[in-house]
Amino acid sequence: MQKLKEAILAKGKAVNQDVLLVDSFLNHQVDVALMRDVGDAFAAYFAGRGITRVVTIESSGIAPASFTALAMGLPLVVMKKQTSRIMKGDLLQTTVRSFTKGTQYELTAKRDFLPEGERLLLIDDFLASGEAAFGVLNLAKQAGCEVAGVGIVIEKAFQPGHDRLCEAGVDVCSLARVKAMSEKGIEFID
Ligand code: 5GP
Repeated sequence: MQKLKEAILAKGKAVNQDVLLVDSFLNHQVDVALMRDVGDAFAAYFAGRGITRVVTIESSGIAPASFTALAMGLPLVVMKKQTSRIMKGDLLQTTVRSFTKGTQYELTAKRDFLPEGERLLLIDDFLASGEAAFGVLNLAKQAGCEVAGVGIVIEKAFQPGHDRLCEAGVDVCSLARVKAMSEKGIEFID
């Protein structure tokens, strides 16, 4: 997606060879016009696949996932990284290792919001090792749902997430695929 690549080149900063900072337009300050285009692009790619629900992980996936759900006319479920005392009921949980923080969290969702038999589309801001996406696959399995696709805003193609998901038979659509990055610049796969 050309507009997204231009935003990454103009505003993204490679913190090092592994981590890209995009907080000026994606996950802190949010360019909502760009997110609307991102949502439209995912809706076009995943049209006609019988998807019934969009899911994401708080908090960085919420903006692109909201616009995707809006464009597809589907409900959105936000999976939580932290539980709270007011989160009651039948909870589904799995442990995920955080790529950026180097810590672990309990990915949590209420079973009520993932009814058995739903076909889910996972939307997230980044794909790196694939741990977060596999956490969602795990929760979907516990709920008796199928992940019918994964839409990623920025994939770091030099990390193993994409291959791991493809090997698991998941259809992955990444709108920008970063081949390599450093302080000198960011290279994309076409
Ligand atoms: P994975 O689980 O695939 O290793 O990492 C995906 C999650 O880690 C994403 O949900 C995203 O929030 C975070 N993440 C991974 N790589 C980056 C990065 O380079 N920059 C930022 N801002 N977040 C990242």
